[in-house]
Amino acid sequence: MTTTLPTKTLPAKKRIALVAHDARKEDLLDWAAYNQGTLAQHTLFATGTTGRLLQEQLELPVTAFLSGPLGGDQQIGARIVEGAIDVLIFFWDPLSSHPHDPDVRALLRVAVLQNIPVATNRSSADFLLSSPLLGQPYARHLEDYGSRLRRERLTDEP
Ligand code: PGA
Repeated sequence: MTTTLPTKTLPAKKRIALVAHDARKEDLLDWAAYNQGTLAQHTLFATGTTGRLLQEQLELPVTAFLSGPLGGDQQIGARIVEGAIDVLIFFWDPLSSHPHDPDVRALLRVAVLQNIPVATNRSSADFLLSSPLLGQPYARHLEDYGSRLRRERLTDEP
């Protein structure tokens, strides 16, 4: 049986959020410098410090939110939920724990929930940025989690 899921279209010009933990910032900046031409064709957002570094070192126009530990990841998550950010590139540090780990988890969770493209390391960011889908509209499928939650609640009732 095939079911048709509802879709929401990501625009051709993507709104890309860039985030890097401190130990991964150098790598993100190096990656962004290499991909500057491609990134410049899209609209960029970032958490505070990541955004400032991108603006200063690459002169890329970036809308910077608050720093991650001060709520910047949550600001990006909220925009993903609202459909105002289409792609998340998060150079995430697997060797450190951070005071805002719950926010990071929440950010990744809503990115999966909203089925937007996410890269959490440099290789996947390379694959994502070189995809022909980056520069064209893309209809992302949206799982009907609402009806699943209702179903599960009904099954749980005594
Ligand atoms: P920052 O935040 O860009 O302000 O350093 C990133 C993060 O740690 O979430």
